[in-house]
Amino acid sequence: MTTALLDLVLPPRCAGCDAPGALVCPSCAEEIRGEPACRMPVPAPPGLPECWSAAEYAGAARRAIISYKERGRTALARPLAGALALTVGTAVGGHPVVLVPVPSARPALRRRGHDPVTRLAELAAGYLREAGWPVMVAGMLAHRRRLADQAGLSSLQRAENLASAFKVAAGWDGLLARSWEGAGVVVLVDDVVTTGATLAEAARALREAGTQAPLAVTLAATRRRGRPREGDGG
Ligand SMILES: [Zn+2]
Repeated sequence: MTTALLDLVLPPRCAGCDAPGALVCPSCAEEIRGEPACRMPVPAPPGLPECWSAAEYAGAARRAIISYKERGRTALARPLAGALALTVGTAVGGHPVVLVPVPSARPALRRRGHDPVTRLAELAAGYLREAGWPVMVAGMLAHRRRLADQAGLSSLQRAENLASAFKVAAGWDGLLARSWEGAGVVVLVDDVVTTGATLAEAARALREAGTQAPLAVTLAATRRRGRPREGDGG
């Protein structure tokens, strides 16, 4: 809230390099758009969909994602959603798409005051539709129980925290079975892929409800070395 307000009244500084003049400078914008590619976590957990991301979780992309998610710079949603839209476009290539955002854990929602991934999915869908692409956003995933915030947990702790964490929300499962067959490629959307545990669990919940998510798209992918860093989603 405060940061969003400051963004409105103060001259902007780049979220990637802190240079004055723009919310994101041209050079950092290029880094955030990245180079859409399939970047799988190693090792990949069982059932993980093919993971596409715009960029490595480093440099300007990492700083912009953290500013957006953790520091309330909601104005960054647009450039980040642009990167997401380009990555969806590259990964799916012309087919109708159903974007399924991975919901934030409730403690994270409270802390951040917004659901950053759902917002990104909605904006990205808007860009793709403007480009003539049939895209819908289906906020069908819900938490089955209270989760600990993933940030700061080890790989093992994350996997335990996430076991059967998601379900398809009431009302969506019947809809899926009846009318969604052939509606489009189901693509899971998250901000960052680290271990892949979150996306594998989300894909499992969709399978349980009778639908397959062959792809996942994120803004960035962590290179698996050392321990997870601030802002990692899982
Ligand atoms: Zn910059």
